[in-house]
Amino acid sequence: EYCPGGYHPLTFGEWLHQGRYFCTRKLGWGQFSTVWLAWDNLEKRFVALKVIKSAQQYADVARDEMRLLVEVRRHHSQEGIIGADRVVQMLDSFTLTGPNGNHQCMVFDVLGVTLLKLIAESDYKGIPLTHVRQVIRQVLEGLHYLHAVCGVIHCDIKPENILLATTQDQVRRLAAEAFDLVESGRSLPASFTCSCSLALRRRRSLCFWDKVRYSILGPEDVGLPAHLKDDNDMRRQLLVAADPLGPSSVVIADLGNACYIDNHFSDEIQTRQYRCYEVLIGGEYGPSADIWSVACVAYELATGRFLFSAQANEHGSVTENHLAAIDALLGPVPKHIALSGHLSRRIYMHDGQLRPDLKQASTSIEKLLMKESGMDATEAGKFSDFLKYLLDLDWKKRPSAYEALQHPWLKN
Ligand code: ADP
Ligand code: MG
Repeated sequence: EYCPGGYHPLTFGEWLHQGRYFCTRKLGWGQFSTVWLAWDNLEKRFVALKVIKSAQQYADVARDEMRLLVEVRRHHSQEGIIGADRVVQMLDSFTLTGPNGNHQCMVFDVLGVTLLKLIAESDYKGIPLTHVRQVIRQVLEGLHYLHAVCGVIHCDIKPENILLATTQDQVRRLAAEAFDLVESGRSLPASFTCSCSLALRRRRSLCFWDKVRYSILGPEDVGLPAHLKDDNDMRRQLLVAADPLGPSSVVIADLGNACYIDNHFSDEIQTRQYRCYEVLIGGEYGPSADIWSVACVAYELATGRFLFSAQANEHGSVTENHLAAIDALLGPVPKHIALSGHLSRRIYMHDGQLRPDLKQASTSIEKLLMKESGMDATEAGKFSDFLKYLLDLDWKKRPSAYEALQHPWLKN
């Protein structure tokens, strides 16, 4: 996808934006962008550069994302605001011109691994409840800031979009690894750079890089511990090894699908498994759509499984089966709620009852937690109380992020 309209090829040693940012290595990529670890030579700190694909449709989406990020940053300096540091902040933005066209670039704090990675690390068994509580509290604080202070709905809360915060020291190690490889004369692996370019091509001014290395990484040896040196999955090791949830905190990222509370961009929002009831039935939604997703994330963090993961089958479509699963777990749905969306009549009959062919055996979150995750009854009871509080089928009655933060399960 490094082609006209697509990603911009970057590699170690490039200076961007009139010599302000020094590019070291790739941190990740998404549907719209590649994300690079760079040194900000003005602020003397590491940053993440998100470089958007150049085609017009990506540039348009990025402009919406940037407008929302500016809104989110505008309120950041207000004093005494809860949750401002739990949402990613855009530090700068600029346009980059390259062989594939013009690319919007956004500059962020460097973040660590995603919660999805932590769930995978647990072998999909889930992380300890004390950590779930800590993460969910922080996510709700971030949402309080987005909803109540900025007037923004995230619209895509899921484990992939919640990242661990990092320290500049951890990040220096990631950069040091790129310097080490280049200086030892080896080319950077494709995961560090774009596959079509070789760092070696740019080796001609190594002594210049020595100076850069010195100014960026400092005089002390920031080389990696020997046992990590040969490990391919360095990033994971570095960021997950030392009890990532001990002092550390999480940040809500990717405002690429967000909208304003009073100006929605789409009727269909959220990634399927985290999609709230009202959006599934084609009804109205508000900030509490994000709260539904938080419950889905909390369950998944604790158990390693999706709370709702419907599939299409001979009985119904994915959405129909998803709604049937919600009915089995949280139903019966009151008639006025069941019939409140423009898709309601496909799933419910005129009296508000679910179509009989869609019916699934009813169960409860508490039972799922005990049966599928082996949680003891007391713990399952308290945790499911919290989840059910967030999963109110009536989006207008669902708690706000601030109200959710007062729930006894989080006070524990
Ligand atoms: P897209 O809109 O293209 O999906 P994302 O914002 O989701 O882009 O970023 C793509 C990937 O880059 C993420 O999944 C993550 O691995 C990495 N990433 C994004 N932002 C940061 C950041 N601030 N720090 C470190 N890595 C990041
Ligand atoms: Mg993404």
